[in-house]
Amino acid sequence: MRGRLSVVTVGCKANFADSAAILTHAARAGFEVVEGGAPADVLVINGCTVTRRADRDCRALARRLRREHPGAVLVMTGCFAETTPEARAKVPEVNHWLGIREPSSSLPRLLRSLAGDAASSGEELSDFAADRLLGHSRVFLKVQDGCDAACAYCVVPKARGAGRSLPRREVVERAVRAERDGAREIVLTGIHAGRYGTDRGDRDGLAGLVEALLRATSGCRFRLGSIEPLEITSALVSLLSTRGRLCPHLHVPLQSGSDRVLLRMRRPYTARRYRERLVSLAAEVPGIRLGADVIAGFPGETPDDFEETVRLIRDTPLSYLHAFPYSPRPGTESAGWADDVIAAEKTRRVARLRAADAAMRREYLEMQVGRTLVVAASARDPKTGEMRGTTENYAEAVFRAAIGARGDLIPVRIDAVRDDHLEGTAV
Ligand code: SF4
Repeated sequence: MRGRLSVVTVGCKANFADSAAILTHAARAGFEVVEGGAPADVLVINGCTVTRRADRDCRALARRLRREHPGAVLVMTGCFAETTPEARAKVPEVNHWLGIREPSSSLPRLLRSLAGDAASSGEELSDFAADRLLGHSRVFLKVQDGCDAACAYCVVPKARGAGRSLPRREVVERAVRAERDGAREIVLTGIHAGRYGTDRGDRDGLAGLVEALLRATSGCRFRLGSIEPLEITSALVSLLSTRGRLCPHLHVPLQSGSDRVLLRMRRPYTARRYRERLVSLAAEVPGIRLGADVIAGFPGETPDDFEETVRLIRDTPLSYLHAFPYSPRPGTESAGWADDVIAAEKTRRVARLRAADAAMRREYLEMQVGRTLVVAASARDPKTGEMRGTTENYAEAVFRAAIGARGDLIPVRIDAVRDDHLEGTAV
């Protein structure tokens, strides 16, 4: 068959890293890879199951893609593909299911068989070939997968299995190849990336990995994904504070500001410890951008518990939130608990968190006016000529630049805040 193949990704940065690998395998199998959702002969959904809403989004996406591309082969993979046979039966639009825990050879085998050719294209392609083909300057490099924690609400350890890290040498080789292929920003992702290396007996593995990556590369910058609060080690803080090529940005899941709720969630920290960690981090790395996930309406969360969360957020140097209403996930510990927060109350609590998020984002963006930030350029608007990209501290920026191409790292003086992004001029 061969032909065109596209991947649509739902979920976290680890899924984006997996999607890049899928595209590269597809290119190796002889497919022409195209942007996610573009017309193609094979459409892959890399799905997520972290919330009930993510499940709904995956099902709706499968229905929409089937409607829009009736003749295409539809493949479902990612955490969502680890669902039960009954749940799979509810998505008859899917032709092939590929669970994330299946052997790593399953995906290339499926793609080769869909391409109608048992042999590969023979072309030597690096892991970042697909990103390069699609013109991406930012690549997601998965350094770790799985999780050994047992948060009461989380289905991810079940879907992805125990924590395991890619050997440091292999990560470094991949990063060097990505830089050589044109990547200017490499996002290090993992399901529990702060535990990188612990399965290999390395206690400060992530900081050691970042140091090795900085030594082995020369021009690209690195960004860390999500890090649990107790895994922000002094070695990591010192790397962030040197203001080198490690972006001053961390996403640190909070989930709740109430110790009672944190305990029931089986989160391994108190609200005070979370706050202290972030306050001292912000003092050592001035201007760092810190974000958090928060769950509203976990079973047993009282109005007072929720107010504690709101207070903690106000007193902690966070500049954005990802707020979600709690939804029970089949197979998790808390799914068996009486869910005593009614839906309307969850909606109200999430709305308050999202209002706080909007105010925090605005305040942080306004603090950037007058500064010069380095933007990883992702596109140029053909009509206005303006460029767009992401700053080192994870803000979207639109800027005027006479020269410069997609993929470049461009210093930009920030002139203003417009809606949810910064505006500026290349210097
Ligand atoms: S740390 Fe907790 S929330 Fe994060 S993936 Fe592991 S079990 Fe899920």
